[in-house]
Amino acid sequence: MIEFRNVTKKYPNGTVALNNVDLRIDDGEFVFIVGSSGAGKSTLIKLMLREETANSGVVKVNGKNLGKMARYKIPKFRRSIGIVFQDFRLIPNMTAYDNVAFALRVTNVRNKEIKRKVPYMLNLVGLSSKMKCKPEELSGGEQQRVALARALVNSPSLIIADEPTGNIDPELSYEIVDLLNEINKLGVTIVMVTHEHDLVEQFNHRVITIDEGEVIRDTEGLEAQLC
Ligand code: ADP
Repeated sequence: MIEFRNVTKKYPNGTVALNNVDLRIDDGEFVFIVGSSGAGKSTLIKLMLREETANSGVVKVNGKNLGKMARYKIPKFRRSIGIVFQDFRLIPNMTAYDNVAFALRVTNVRNKEIKRKVPYMLNLVGLSSKMKCKPEELSGGEQQRVALARALVNSPSLIIADEPTGNIDPELSYEIVDLLNEINKLGVTIVMVTHEHDLVEQFNHRVITIDEGEVIRDTEGLEAQLC
């Protein structure tokens, strides 16, 4: 679960990026976070990953109060979350297989497990036949699927995707979100930042809209109100 209680984030230069934000995302949800450039979306994500800390209020992720988390615990906390970036962040000279395996190697997973898990994950994202390709030999959509496999391989209960379709053709963007949708059906919570309204409209998920550092719309419970 992700919980923001009265969270305000002010950068040292005085910019108030988030102002008194309250929100709660339960386990198993799929949530889109939308808003125009500068609205505060990245700041929200950075707070969830403890890349930034709030000036006031409480940020809790999976039961952990991030404002109180000791510095040495942060890397382990981040590894418990699957993170997907707009620019893929794959290691260029490594194959798709090795990029995914790398995420396991840094946590000292045994070779036998790596040999079992990596092909399974690449198969899940539809890339079995491209395991030996390097990023430059893959399309943007394929690179993002490798990044997704890497995010999933440590079995996170939460995936945070920051504009994952920002560098991908529109038709392939749908496939990436569809894949996230399938992953969500397996019980993984998905938080996806995007500014692509067309994409959001194709999926029936909760949408949180941020504007000038505030939550101005949250579709949670709206269906219930309409009935
Ligand atoms: P979004 O992701 O929606 O584009 P951001 O969270 O990046 O929005 O930014 C929200 C506001 O905070 C913007 O006004 C931006 O200029 C400002 N901001 C973001 N990061 C910093 C920073 N490190 N220092 C100062 N201001 C920042």
